Amino acid sequence: MSNQNLLERSLKAVWHPCTQMKQHEMLPLVPIARGEGVWLHDFDGGRYLDAISSWWVNLFGHANPRINAAICDQLDRLEHVMLAGFTHEPVVQLSERLSKLAPGKLGHCFYGSDGASATEIALKMSFHYWHNSGHPGKTGFISLQNGYHGETLGALAVTDVALFRETYAPLLRHGTHVLTPDWRYAAEGESPKDYALRAAAELENHLAQHHAGIAALIVEPLVQGAAGMGMYHPDYLKLAREICDKYQVHLIADEIAVGFGRTGTLFACEQADIAPDFLCLAKGLSGGYLPLSVVMTTDKVYQAFYHDETARGFLHSHTHSGNALACRAALATLDIFEQDEIIAANRIKAHYLNRAAQPFTSHPKVKNFRNCGMIWAFEVKTSDPAFAGKFFQAALKQELLLRPLGDTVYFMPPYVINEQEMDLLVAGTLQTLDSC
Ligand SMILES: *Cc1c(COP(=O)(O)O)cnc(C)c1O
Repeated sequence: MSNQNLLERSLKAVWHPCTQMKQHEMLPLVPIARGEGVWLHDFDGGRYLDAISSWWVNLFGHANPRINAAICDQLDRLEHVMLAGFTHEPVVQLSERLSKLAPGKLGHCFYGSDGASATEIALKMSFHYWHNSGHPGKTGFISLQNGYHGETLGALAVTDVALFRETYAPLLRHGTHVLTPDWRYAAEGESPKDYALRAAAELENHLAQHHAGIAALIVEPLVQGAAGMGMYHPDYLKLAREICDKYQVHLIADEIAVGFGRTGTLFACEQADIAPDFLCLAKGLSGGYLPLSVVMTTDKVYQAFYHDETARGFLHSHTHSGNALACRAALATLDIFEQDEIIAANRIKAHYLNRAAQPFTSHPKVKNFRNCGMIWAFEVKTSDPAFAGKFFQAALKQELLLRPLGDTVYFMPPYVINEQEMDLLVAGTLQTLDSC
């Protein structure tokens, strides 16, 4: 197998996601033969440091020996069994452990396959809860401006990214996007905290008028990923929780991207000391290995479905719900968090990378250099609409996988990145900035 052979066959047979395929007439695909730690290797001796954890999923490196061993062990026992009417050890253990780790009392785990299915589950459950509880008029959802919750039709309706939405607008249910707390939108001289309070006040105004028709508010806690790593003050979440309680509206925390240590705590909600009514997890849940998502919720929600009548139950299903291999990968991932005290270890890594990244803070092409836990981002001053693609290409030449969101360059490395690799990441990014 060679790079050239594989990419030619791929372009014939595979329709790649999030891609205008015609652009591959100019931009070659990157064929990957194997991965090891933070590195992806091609067939011809090339390698790339996976600085974005393969779309934010990989926590402990590619081909992690401990996760591999757990999956191999599970493979010999049970690869999959349907979860309606049946159960198995990995799904029970995972549910028990997640419930202990998650904020608040989220004792009931409902499984899906990917992030978008978790969003769909949370939206349907919230609506159905109100329906079962004598509030059938609570059918609406509100979300944040620039929020991203996935791209199936229900999830896209609460997503606010024009490029992904506009074409499909006639298919989407109407919802309201309220002011984002992302501090890049603060007024001149307004602190991130003051701006968060202003955004919360707008949320309250909206709910004061419309709460009777609203089932839930869905947010990405602390960092709006697809918006370009828009970061915001935790007080927004604190206030959002209070406001939702006051107006009888569910709070759905979409921690699909920010969960599992990305923001410096295991879950982002911890930093606001709040618990949501629904917690959506995916991406890093299985260490990035296998498609797995979960929606965790409270006893109160669960009890509203528990009834003699079948239709009052939550009849939603995904065929691979609670897949045993994926759950086992998730358990191995949680083991690594515990055994290697990852949250504390990441603090030291983040400190190192923040020091190494000092040159960005005064770089003439860089704006808004920011960090939250294991996420770093900055905007590049450019007027080139093709900037993201050009930067991506130039970074590959520096052995870096970086995939800017518009003019936002970000790092979201696997947690196994070492100091030497962080130095390479910074040096290669500076070189890339100079070359485009
Ligand atoms: C990635 C993402 C999703 C969608 O997850 P998929 O697995 O791609 O469907 C939803 N919400 C957030 C915050 C995400 O980052």
